[in-house]
Amino acid sequence: MINPANRTKTIELSLIRKMFEVTNPNAINLGIGEPDFDVPKNIKQAMKNSIDENDTHYTPNKGYIELREEIVKKFKNDNGINTNPDNIIVTAGASEGLFLCAQAFIEKGDEVLLPDPGFLSYEACVKIADGTIVPVDCTMENEFKIKAEDVEEKITDKTKAIVLNSPSNPTGAVMEKEDVKAIADLSMDKNFLIISDEIYEKIIYDKKHYSPAKYSDNVITLNGFSKTYAMTGLRIGYLTANENYIEEMLKIHQYNIACASTTSQRGAYEALIGPQDEVNKMVDEFQRRRDLIVTRLNDMGYETVNAEGAFYVFPKIEDENFVLKAAKEGVITVPGIAFGSNGKNHVRMSYANSYENIEKAMDILEERVVNG
Ligand code: PMP
Repeated sequence: MINPANRTKTIELSLIRKMFEVTNPNAINLGIGEPDFDVPKNIKQAMKNSIDENDTHYTPNKGYIELREEIVKKFKNDNGINTNPDNIIVTAGASEGLFLCAQAFIEKGDEVLLPDPGFLSYEACVKIADGTIVPVDCTMENEFKIKAEDVEEKITDKTKAIVLNSPSNPTGAVMEKEDVKAIADLSMDKNFLIISDEIYEKIIYDKKHYSPAKYSDNVITLNGFSKTYAMTGLRIGYLTANENYIEEMLKIHQYNIACASTTSQRGAYEALIGPQDEVNKMVDEFQRRRDLIVTRLNDMGYETVNAEGAFYVFPKIEDENFVLKAAKEGVITVPGIAFGSNGKNHVRMSYANSYENIEKAMDILEERVVNG
């Protein structure tokens, strides 16, 4: 038996995945981290065409130039970020983007500020890079929004980076403009990197998304097609940063995956140039479900923030056995503690499931779990 490296030994496999393996396949799954919609037809067709046209060879390491040009336009129009095709890397999902940031910039002794609660991969990527995690509290009092003053308090001379994620997994919180701007200013004053994970950018209700890269040069902006276009299995995302940062990340990307899949790149190109009606429909439907699940949970007596984005709610549920009881009754949820110590006494519920299933799930919780 060969010993694994110490840095991997300390990492746990995802609790969420483990939960799915043990629960009844007929249960209503509110544990899901991906849209329950299909990839829009025009995108599917573009991918089919790409295979028929034998577009199955290596592409430039950074990705097809046509795709990078469209990504540049997207950053300008949606985010007010001025970039150029040389400063874009097309990645195998935002997951690869995150890994590239960690590998290129984090090493032993570096402190990395992470939202607590936060997406599980952040912690794992920092640990694989031998960095030290410094949690920043995102409290229910602040509707789980990360606040600039809480970030400032955690900055030391070892602070190398912070991960921002708005809208957030697991809470659905959307950052306020003044916090985005203040943290961007801090990154310039105190010289640290912002890794801005904007994968849920388009899944947002009555609220505007702000990108820190508009206000600071020390930002790597991560995004992708998984959530907006329901393309999770196609593993396609992208990042932008200034040219010095791109060069370092390109080294990892080039020697790791060489380039993102041709089929997925062609689908991504179509996603950006094609109609956006499917995205708008999906977001409207998510909002209808958000309204339903928040109302039902509050009616049950579980304090729940009216999350402004993503497709998660994070109710306060102090019953330690809730997740297990719910699973036994046929509703899968995820314990909040899986996302950090501030997730204690909370449960993550995803509403990437049909309106009818969410209604049924809420009936089950009300009849058999809360009052059972
Ligand atoms: N960031 C967050 C916050 C996520 O929730 C996810 C997916 N669950 C990712 C990144 C990874 O997305 P991708 O499929 O693009 O790798």
